Amino acid sequence: MIAEKHAVPHISTGDILREAVREGSELGRKAEPIMKSGGLVPDDLMIGIIRERLAKPDARTGFVLDGFPRTVPQAEKLDALLTEGNGKDKPHVVSLLVPDEVIVRRIAARRSCPSCGAVYHLESAPPKVANVCDICGSALIARPDDTEDAVRKRLDAFHRQTMPVAEFYRAKGWLRDIDGLGTIDEVFERIDETLGR
Ligand code: AMP
Repeated sequence: MIAEKHAVPHISTGDILREAVREGSELGRKAEPIMKSGGLVPDDLMIGIIRERLAKPDARTGFVLDGFPRTVPQAEKLDALLTEGNGKDKPHVVSLLVPDEVIVRRIAARRSCPSCGAVYHLESAPPKVANVCDICGSALIARPDDTEDAVRKRLDAFHRQTMPVAEFYRAKGWLRDIDGLGTIDEVFERIDETLGR
């Protein structure tokens, strides 16, 4: 919603990796077992993906990064890429605060489109026709890493490896903590409001 409103690309490293898995590329073959178990794909691979993606012409006037950076080395490398490249403005960094038990409930009801990547929630954002993607008509699935075990491991990776990224940006004065509870529209408004500052 943010990317659409500001007419910039939505760059999700998870989507890029899922696409690589679907294509069966070398990257996909390396990433698939790590993703399935809920671990993090190595930093060097992730940084290569982002470097390549940010070099595309559509990213010249801005972008929304979703799922990156997830570790402090990724954040440091992103900083270097932004300083080298066109992104001279300092980035807006938003941290959505949601208790783990709410995240687990949201993920349990999440359904995704394996073809176009659209995301649904069985109660708060259901598809118009049960189990069918509104956008491309494919059958919806639960992500292979939305199992209880993988979700626990992803939350653990988040607390250990990604929370230090928030502190990295807080130290620079760039971080905005945002209450992630409430409806999709409410959270969207809260994020969007901070972007004007
Ligand atoms: P997501 O769609 O953002 O939930 O990402 C799904 C999975 O892809 C994660 O659980 C990781 O295994 C992998 N992944 C996505 N982004 C990154 C990243 N920046 N660093 C490491 N692994 C990532």
